[in-house]
Amino acid sequence: MSKLPDIINLVKKTVQELKPYQAENIQCRIKLDAMENPYPLPESLMKKISEEIGRIKINRYPDPSASRLKSIISAQTDISTDNIIIGNGSDELIQMILTVFGDPSPQSLSGEQGDRVLFPVPTFSMYGIISKSLSLKDEVVPLSEDWEIQLDKFLSEMERVKPKVIFISYPNNPTGNCFNRESILKILKKASGIVVIDEAYYDFSKKTFLPYLKEYKNLIILRTLSKIGMAGLRVGYLMADSEICRELNKVRLPYNSNSVSQEIAGIILENRTEVDRQIASIILERERLMDGLKGIKDIEPFSSETNFILFKTDKNSKEIFDKLLDSGILIRNFGDDIYLKNSLRVTIGAPDENNEFLKTLNKIL
Ligand code: PMP
Repeated sequence: MSKLPDIINLVKKTVQELKPYQAENIQCRIKLDAMENPYPLPESLMKKISEEIGRIKINRYPDPSASRLKSIISAQTDISTDNIIIGNGSDELIQMILTVFGDPSPQSLSGEQGDRVLFPVPTFSMYGIISKSLSLKDEVVPLSEDWEIQLDKFLSEMERVKPKVIFISYPNNPTGNCFNRESILKILKKASGIVVIDEAYYDFSKKTFLPYLKEYKNLIILRTLSKIGMAGLRVGYLMADSEICRELNKVRLPYNSNSVSQEIAGIILENRTEVDRQIASIILERERLMDGLKGIKDIEPFSSETNFILFKTDKNSKEIFDKLLDSGILIRNFGDDIYLKNSLRVTIGAPDENNEFLKTLNKIL
């Protein structure tokens, strides 16, 4: 009888060494860990959604090119539908970009080691996880102590590794700040590969590189609907030169965006007055939470243009995380990250959630 194979030995080496993305489903009363919008949709909109869902032919495949949703996004961004791709979350778009542009083989344009992917750290962990899963080498340049791109170091790393793809989270998750605009423009000017500016938190920062799409054919702008109330739908989109979109569409899986998500996202975006009100309220709450955190001893919160705040403590962050969870409050502990020792990230919640978080944290410290 042949011996059964040891599965782990069949797994490619780059995946063997991977740690999965930390998305846990921990039971809690107050969920402030995942940058979700804490507010529900108004009842009138929920009613409209229920009616429209009833009309969806779920026995049929969805519109493969998500044309209606793309037209709505096109009208709101002033970017042609030929320059837009919808993803099953922006995570999927990151994977599509790296699949098209990243060649791990030694015959790649980058020579012996295969294509490299470059980004500043700490940042969104999926840039590294997806690079490794596709056997691409990720290269990182640490941010300065005030979470800025160290431009000289970044530019010389670009010179050295000749990255095929650069990722810049703008604003940056988990530090919360928008990097210096001039630094990003210098990176764009120098780059000979693709530059992805990930504007997942655009709705909270209102800052964008969209006007540069025409000037830089190698620029991709990434956005998501997850942070503004549609995390459960898994809808992200990118905007880029039509040639980039044509190539990305070659690897996009057929029907990657399902009909229910396309329909609901379309309805919400077409009726976004309430969502915009919620965003405005989250921004106000962010400033209130920031003031509250500043008033707690042994805590250093970092200013944020997103819907979350990163803060550093003098204490063990895992103990703080555990004590908050004992009180039913879930936030995110970054204590294990070499760049984020004793740091935690709290998502902006509804006012009563933020009050309870501040009160409990005050008590713990
Ligand atoms: N980019 C950044 C910077 C993020 O923080 C996130 C979510 N944590 C994503 C992309 C992915 O968002 P989604 O897949 O939900 O669209």
